[in-house]
Amino acid sequence: MPAAIPTTQTVARVYELGGGVQFEDDYPVPTPANNEVLAKVLYTGVCQSDLHTKAGTAAGADGNPITNIKLPHIGGHEGVGRVIALGPGCASDIHVGDLVGIRFASRICRRCEFCLAGKEQHCIRGTNHLHHEDGSFQEYIALDADYLTVLPQDIDPAIIGPVLCAGVTAYKAVLNCGLRAGEWLVVVGAGGGLGHLAVQYGLAVGAQVLAVDSGSEKEKFVKELGVHAFIDFAQTKDLIQDVHDITSGGAHAVVVTAGSPKAFKSAADMLRVGGILSCVGIPPGKAFIEVPVCTIVIKGLRITGNLVGSLKECLEAVELVRRGVVKPKVSVRPFKDLPAVYEELERGDIAGRIVLKVSQDVD
Ligand SMILES: [Zn+2]
Ligand SMILES: [Zn+2]
Repeated sequence: MPAAIPTTQTVARVYELGGGVQFEDDYPVPTPANNEVLAKVLYTGVCQSDLHTKAGTAAGADGNPITNIKLPHIGGHEGVGRVIALGPGCASDIHVGDLVGIRFASRICRRCEFCLAGKEQHCIRGTNHLHHEDGSFQEYIALDADYLTVLPQDIDPAIIGPVLCAGVTAYKAVLNCGLRAGEWLVVVGAGGGLGHLAVQYGLAVGAQVLAVDSGSEKEKFVKELGVHAFIDFAQTKDLIQDVHDITSGGAHAVVVTAGSPKAFKSAADMLRVGGILSCVGIPPGKAFIEVPVCTIVIKGLRITGNLVGSLKECLEAVELVRRGVVKPKVSVRPFKDLPAVYEELERGDIAGRIVLKVSQDVD
């Protein structure tokens, strides 16, 4: 017998951008509407974008702060849940008991040019769990059954959350580099949540990975992942020169995963002729990459970015984790540690990713 569904739940709310997180126990549990499922949120990752959105510093495509944010705000877009009820009209291949993901994109139109092109995270009528709808920092969530992230049922729900945003983003960034086996990939911010996944997706495509980060803890961590070289950016006298020395003339690709604008600034200088700079994660405010036009032209550089990935790409990133090729480093903490986790994210001292245990799985 499925457990009875309560009428109220615990959520982490933010009342104004720049304000703190408040836990409330009397928030209504949504009733799944037509073609929606109700999922119990088991685990959720905490993404830099949650931090920047809460702080009011998240930048849009024009570089200005995103202000169209539902308030009060319930963040979280790296959630793993279990379907506990179906609203009317759900397709017959969706079942109570299914493990599902709560990702950045929440609803799409399926008709615009980006939906038709398999880039539905850019849907012109789309909504997401960061700005428009309550995310996974709550115990129960209603999800669109036709755009449901149905996860493999044999995965560990505690480690999959970070794959749904950080993981697919890192996976797509590596795909965008078009690397061949043996080519050099530099990952800036290699020990972080996005970074340690970019390292592993890079290794999965056969690249030689040069990790850039700082501190002995992160050095030890990325070396255990199997990187071919490590540079401590806080210790080196000349980061760019070191990269060129190790890679014999520059990297074939650089993925910048660090959240600080400084990390992006000179990343293109690390590239060899024909190299690709792949940007992921969005630093707060209006950060710039400084590359002289002559450098881009003469060296034939390419600069690319991506916003998470499609549902299809997300499930590809999940599959590599399910098969054990990529292993997210996750430490599980209680839901109510969220404010402390935000502070740690801000200080940049988290190796891997923190996952919050939001609620107990159903029996
Ligand atoms: Zn995210
Ligand atoms: Zn669309």
